[in-house]
Amino acid sequence: MLKIQNLTVQINNQVILKNLNLQVQPGSVHALMGPNGSGKSTLAYTIMGHPSCQVTTGNLIFQDQDITDLAIDKRARLGIFLAFQYPQAVPGLKVFNFLKAAYEAFASEEIVGKVETNDHKSMGVSVLEFKQILDNALVTLGLNPELIDRDLNDGFSGGEKKRLEMLQLYLLQPKIAIIDEIDSGLDVDALKTVAQVLQACKDRDPEFTIILVTHYRRILEHLKPDFVHIVAHGELVASGTEELSHKIDTAGYGLYV
Ligand code: ADP
Ligand code: MG
Repeated sequence: MLKIQNLTVQINNQVILKNLNLQVQPGSVHALMGPNGSGKSTLAYTIMGHPSCQVTTGNLIFQDQDITDLAIDKRARLGIFLAFQYPQAVPGLKVFNFLKAAYEAFASEEIVGKVETNDHKSMGVSVLEFKQILDNALVTLGLNPELIDRDLNDGFSGGEKKRLEMLQLYLLQPKIAIIDEIDSGLDVDALKTVAQVLQACKDRDPEFTIILVTHYRRILEHLKPDFVHIVAHGELVASGTEELSHKIDTAGYGLYV
């Protein structure tokens, strides 16, 4: 699904990631662990195409296509999704309108049934159709419908923001989701919702692939990783199975920093 080859990334002319290699097979769950400031978010942002993350060497290959220089929106249309560690609030933008626009722009054509017009705008779904889709998703995910009428992340609790990230993921049906520290500050119930949504996406599409950035093993109790990787000072310093996350839990990152 995704090949990261020899990736070196700079932010503000400072090297943050060094010669990083990672292969992610379709349908797999990769957990990315590591101490604060080790470069996990930078890797997540670089895969998504954040303009501050300057790739100085190496390549990103997504489904056999080189996406190293591709714009963020094009990556999103290919089926790459990033759930933010710190979702932004946008006062004045209703969640419903945001989700509908995102759905029309980024969910795949098989799902939305897009029709391209002359000005290349995609014809999406009607308000009523989308309300139905959204209501179904809310019920499936057990989310509070009141969130939909509020402004995007405005005054949302930490748990509500993360639930909304999961709702976007569920609606857009990407091929790969990079989930950046969704578990920090979440209570047990919200954590279960996150794991349930990820599992629902996996059940719906066996090729759905997850890169789960996390500090703690807690979320891995709910969503079993196929591989665990440790990032320290911008390098991938260890890879293994779930066993590695147990080791981190008892011994900490001391071995790797
Ligand atoms: P993690 O997510 O593992 O905590 P980050 O990827 O956020 O780590 O950060 C990795 C390193 O990059 C840190 O040393 C951080 O200070 C640095 N960094 C991140 N963003 C910027 C930025 N915009 N400007 C300068 N340095 C940055
Ligand atoms: Mg981070």
